[in-house]
Amino acid sequence: LNYPTAQFLISAPTLHHCPSDSGTEVAFAGRSNAGKSSAINALTQQKALARTSRTPGRTQLINFFSVMNDDARRLVDLPGYGYAKVPEAVKIEWQQHLSEYLRARHSLRGLVLLMDVRHPLTEFDQMMLGFADEREMPVHILLTKADKLKKGPASASLQQVRSRLKEWDDLVSVQLFSALKRQGIDTLSQRLDTWLAS
Ligand code: GDP
Repeated sequence: LNYPTAQFLISAPTLHHCPSDSGTEVAFAGRSNAGKSSAINALTQQKALARTSRTPGRTQLINFFSVMNDDARRLVDLPGYGYAKVPEAVKIEWQQHLSEYLRARHSLRGLVLLMDVRHPLTEFDQMMLGFADEREMPVHILLTKADKLKKGPASASLQQVRSRLKEWDDLVSVQLFSALKRQGIDTLSQRLDTWLAS
């Protein structure tokens, strides 16, 4: 699919406000500051489709984008998670919206989970993997900011994440990614294509 055709559709504060649950969509999730906005902007070749966060954790909305002028194929930008300065009550509310969306959304075909290559598989990341596992939904992990490590340490991190997730290897795939160097965009596009076509 031609991801640069992506266009903003709607922002939803809760599952209740999401567009009609038909067609296919893929969602992007990750700790705030993991590089999610930068990855969506790199994929779509748009500077500001997903806003890179000046204040991390501010985006509490679920943002929907259509692909190829077709509302039935969507990219979904989920709220970043884990920003320290957000009050506990608000964190719990976001967590509820995230789990509700991930568990209940029929049109959701796969989850792109972003993790800083230097700090992968946090407690939150594992919780997200758990939600996906509950419904046997595939997850594609982007180890982001790969340009921050030399080649050796970057592939060591990739291997380590793969081996830690070995028992899930029929549902989980992992790649290195750098929005800055535009590394890994083709691999990501191919994975999204298989999900959005089904
Ligand atoms: P989000 O909170 O997950 O949406 O993260 P952002 O996309 O806003 O990125 C958080 C910070 O990481 C920003 O300062 C970005 O410039 C930086 N960043 C994002 N992607 C990359 C990357 O591929 N390489 C490097 N070096 N920095 C990145």
